[in-house]
Order: sequence, then structure tokens, then C-alpha cells
Amino acid sequence: MIAVKCAVFSTKPYDVDFLQKAGDLAGHEMVFYESRLTEVTAKLAEGYDAICAFVNDELQRPTLVKIHQGGTKLIALRCAGFNQLDLRAARELGLRAARVPAYSPHAVAEHTLALILSLNRKIHKAYQRVRDNNFSLDGLLGFDLHGRTVGVVGTGTIGKNVVRILHGFGCEVLMYDVTPAEDCLMFGNYVSLDHLLGNSEIITLHCPLNDSTKYLVREESICKMKPGVMLVNTSRGALIDTSAVIRHLKIGTLGSVALDVYEEESEIFFEDRSQSIVDDDVFSRLLTFPNVLITSHQAFFTEQAMHEIARVTMQNLSEFEQSKNLSNSIC
Ligand code: NAD
Repeated sequence: MIAVKCAVFSTKPYDVDFLQKAGDLAGHEMVFYESRLTEVTAKLAEGYDAICAFVNDELQRPTLVKIHQGGTKLIALRCAGFNQLDLRAARELGLRAARVPAYSPHAVAEHTLALILSLNRKIHKAYQRVRDNNFSLDGLLGFDLHGRTVGVVGTGTIGKNVVRILHGFGCEVLMYDVTPAEDCLMFGNYVSLDHLLGNSEIITLHCPLNDSTKYLVREESICKMKPGVMLVNTSRGALIDTSAVIRHLKIGTLGSVALDVYEEESEIFFEDRSQSIVDDDVFSRLLTFPNVLITSHQAFFTEQAMHEIARVTMQNLSEFEQSKNLSNSIC
């Protein structure tokens, strides 16, 4: 017997692999669409009890109205952040929503360290050079991570793993969070945001995107940072005002920048665009800096995380089907 019929959007072959296996085990029926969920593609969900969406699907009111009209009752997000969902509109329409709150905090924390280490030691450049028989070290000078002061903004599920790893590297860890976590205290010190900005040699962002965190890094906050600071963002693109970042990369306030997310990424990331022209001048400008390292929202992408995303998504569908309280409910 089929439990829940679910239309899955923004799917890639790897999503299909993991979700299909988990869905078959749980008895749910899945249909997979490569398209992003938008107001236009919402009609594909007609007749499905649930939709399963990812980070760049559009879940604003016009789309929610359409899926509601088509009979959808549950939004199963296969991600942790839910800034893309208009919660008020969902509530007003009587839609339920659940997410996967912590599929692998290690995956994102470890990718954050991969970015810091690669950018600092210029591994991405060294890799190309050696393949080109260029064994010169000019331009590859880095610094010891040991003893550096690193500021971690947001010490939730992911941030606290970053804090723990940085402590292991011998860094001085400064932390800022609106709700400090006791289990981080042995690895660093909570300070004000201004203190963190003014004293860190590396700043890494791990807070969610909401009204209070949008453009947390902007002209005014960058001016408070130590000259030459490394800025890392593996959380959500709009935590950063990219134009301000570009201005300060040009004048050297920002020494280097590593990004796994970008405010306008929905038009760029997750696709092979190697044969086309990227129509985003801000993003293209970022790519011109030798001290900027960008990955395309891959921090979550480990086998363990994909397995857990599929497992918890199926659990969310099953709880909905059995009219249980959704343990991962967001509305
Ligand atoms: P979480 O909810 O466990 O932790 C977020 C922390 O940020 C909490 O401790 C919260 O108190 C804190 N916070 C909230 N507002 C703040 C503010 N104004 N200033 C400072 N701290 C604030 O979330 P998480 O699972 O650790 O994820 C963090 C973010 O990482 C997510 O919101 C998501 O956007 C992003 N993420 C990215 C990827 C990726 O692949 N790049 C994958 C998963 C999650």
C-alpha cells in the first residue's frame, strides 16, 4: 500500500538514488522532477499529498497557493535552513512543513575547514601548478592555523563542530551567538559581535538567514574587521552583502574570502554552466580575485549526509501519514 504520494523537486541523479531507496523502504510513492519548484512548475505537484523541496526552491506565497490548490498538504524540506519558505503564508493556508534539522553537521563543519585550509595554503593553485610541471612556491605562502584567532558566528549544530575542530588545531576561538551554548565554553570564549569582528583573523558564519542576520556582513561590519581578515560563509548567501565584499577585497580590508553559498545562487549553482555565459556580473567579478575560493553549495554533500537526509525525509512523510506530531515540524 502506498503511504504518501510525494513530488520531489530540484532533483539530481544523486537525490534520486538516495531518496528512492529510502522511499521504497518506507512504502512512499515518489515522482522526481529536475525542475526547481516555482509558481510556474507548481502544477507538477497536482494530486500529490506532499512536495519535497531543496534550498533553492521557491516557497513564497504564490507557489504555496498553487500547491495548496493542487491538494498538497505537506512541505518536506530536504535541508536544514528554511529561509526560502514563507512560514506565515504556509500557516494561513494550513500547510504543514518539516525539515531535516541536522543531517550531518560534520559534513558542513569539515567543508568549512577544507575551505579555510585550501584558501590559506592555496591548495587549489598548487594542484594546478604541479599538474603543469610548475614546482615554484612563489605566491603560495600561507600562515599557521595554530595560534590564529578565529571568530565563529553562530554556535548551533554546525558552528559548535567548527569550534571543536578549530580548538583541535590550536586556534583561539571567539564565539558569538544570540543563544550561547554551554558545551562550547571549553573550546573558546563568547564575546560581543563587535569584539569578534575586531579581533579575528578568520571569521566564519554559521547562523541562519533571517531578518536579523540578512547582510550581517556589510560595509559597516567589514569596516570593524582586522585588515587582511579571511571571511568564510558556508551558511546562506544573503548573510553577506556581496558588493561590499568586492569593494573591500579591492582595497585589501578583506584578505581572502571563501564561499560555499551566494545570494543569487539559485540562478547559478547545482548546474553545469561550462558551455554558457554566466549572466551575473557580481558573481563574475568575485571569480576574478585570486584570493577568493568558491564552491557551489556542496558543504552538505557527503554520503552520510545524503543518507540521513533521505532517511529523515521519509520519517517526516511517515509521521504525516500516520497523523503523528511531526518531530521536525517548522509549521
Ligand atoms: P542551528 O539552528 O543549529 O544553529 C544556528 C545558530 O545560530 C543557533 O545557535 C542560533 O542561536 C544562532 N543564531 C541565530 N541568530 C543569530 C544571530 N543573529 N547572530 C548569531 N547567531 C545567531 O543551525 P545549523 O544546523 O548549525 O545551520 C546553520 C546554517 O548553516 C543553516 O541555517 C543553513 O543556512 C546553513 N547550512 C548550510 C549548508 C551547506 O551545505 N552549505 C548545509 C546545512 C546548513
